[in-house]
Amino acid sequence: MAIATVNPATGETLKTFDPLNAGEIEDHLVRAEQAFQEHRTTTFGYRSERLLAAADLLEADLDSISRTMTTEMGKPLAQARAEAKKCVKTMRWYAHHAEELLADEHPDPADVTDSGAARAVVRYRPLGTVLAVMPWNFPLWQVVRFAAPALMAGNTGLLKHASNVPQTALYIEELFRRAGFAEGCFQTLLIGARAVEDILRDPRIAAATLTGSEPAGRSVASIAGDEVKKTVLELGGSDPYVVLPSADLDKAASVAVTARVQNNGQSCIAAKRFIVHTDVYDDFAARFTERMSALTVGDPMDEHTDVGPLASEQGRSDLEELVDDAVHRGATALCGGRRPPEHPAGWFYEPTVLSGIDPAMRIHHEEAFGPVASLYRVADLDEAVTVANDSPFGLSSNAWTRDPDEQARLARDLQAGGVFFNGMTASHPGLPFGGAKRSGYGRELSGHGIKEFCNMTTLWYGPES
Ligand code: NAP
Repeated sequence: MAIATVNPATGETLKTFDPLNAGEIEDHLVRAEQAFQEHRTTTFGYRSERLLAAADLLEADLDSISRTMTTEMGKPLAQARAEAKKCVKTMRWYAHHAEELLADEHPDPADVTDSGAARAVVRYRPLGTVLAVMPWNFPLWQVVRFAAPALMAGNTGLLKHASNVPQTALYIEELFRRAGFAEGCFQTLLIGARAVEDILRDPRIAAATLTGSEPAGRSVASIAGDEVKKTVLELGGSDPYVVLPSADLDKAASVAVTARVQNNGQSCIAAKRFIVHTDVYDDFAARFTERMSALTVGDPMDEHTDVGPLASEQGRSDLEELVDDAVHRGATALCGGRRPPEHPAGWFYEPTVLSGIDPAMRIHHEEAFGPVASLYRVADLDEAVTVANDSPFGLSSNAWTRDPDEQARLARDLQAGGVFFNGMTASHPGLPFGGAKRSGYGRELSGHGIKEFCNMTTLWYGPES
């Protein structure tokens, strides 16, 4: 894929970039390794000062970087601003919490004396340079939620960002440099996906984190496995959104719209499969469809736009194929199901609600990465759980019920990295984020995320120490 900024609202190529050559990649690796040897010895206070400076700089740049994101991948401008604000908050969160999260642990001496130790300490040390392969859909957030904890832990980072967000990728490198992190602590590599393998195999790379599609995750994980390097994978999702009779139906329908179409429907944790109890199905379907039909599709720079274009022409074709396959096999489009005729340029697609989904349809098992919702009618809680779990993915899940017994059952049985009750899935710096099944493994954010790229070291002190 060419490394270029192509405006998805118009299809116009605005800027192209040459990928780095082998010599330039080598220079980046040398700088990353040198920077790690220095950075790993710095104090939490030193790192925190710089991360807080990065947060302040990003806050000052909020408007311009939001416009860059919207130009490169088409999310509505207000959502780009919200994304940048969340990055500021997360940088500050890790700047304030990392030292405490990675503090030495002191096992009770009574528990370890039979190992011969007078005492023992568990210390979290950095691993080295981490290669981050990132997607375009939250072009700032995906990187910051890796970079903030990685830098605070004393690691250095190399970013291979998606080829369609090069200006955002370069901005992030510059941001950390301006904030005072030493040369080489965080670098952007403008490279295509094919260049990843050699870099990942390089001994100067300690570990990798990938957020993206399942094929990309499988490829990076198998190379890293071959090299015995740690990976974290955040892959696709097709999150269930279960609605049961005790729910506040109007609220459930209203939140369902946001949960499905935020980021133009291109969010891994978007609710994609709406599984509704038969007693409230017709009511929910009517309210949800009415709201989906009323959304304003258009220029993402316009403050009144709810849904902008898909990020790429290929992404729209993939989505169209899923919808066409479902309709061909008997699903009904309650709204949408086509390109909006009033937006012939750019890669727009109408918010769409499909009913009558069955397991023979591709959309039942595949991720719909765009503003397309699948509706399921279920007879009871058992069937809701069965349908919710009938997916290769297990990223997050949503459940609307005010019944504590139903909540307990869903908390126990939904196969996902999160269960959000009476609300929609959202990431937060203080809560672990990640998936089960083919949605990946490992966790980002919170104390769990920062420890993923640490060498948990046992320090054992004999009686003479
Ligand atoms: P993608 O094609 O997998 O791209 C993601 C990144 O991986 C890009 O930097 C891409 O580079 C690179 N890449 C692609 N194939 C690769 C390979 N074989 N080896 C190494 N790198 C490779 O994914 P996408 O379509 O851009 O993003 C959408 C997907 O990401 C969806 O499935 C979505 O659910 C998932 N996602 C998951 C999360 C989460 O937290 N779980 C968050 C956001 C998105 P190029 O751009 O150069 O191809």
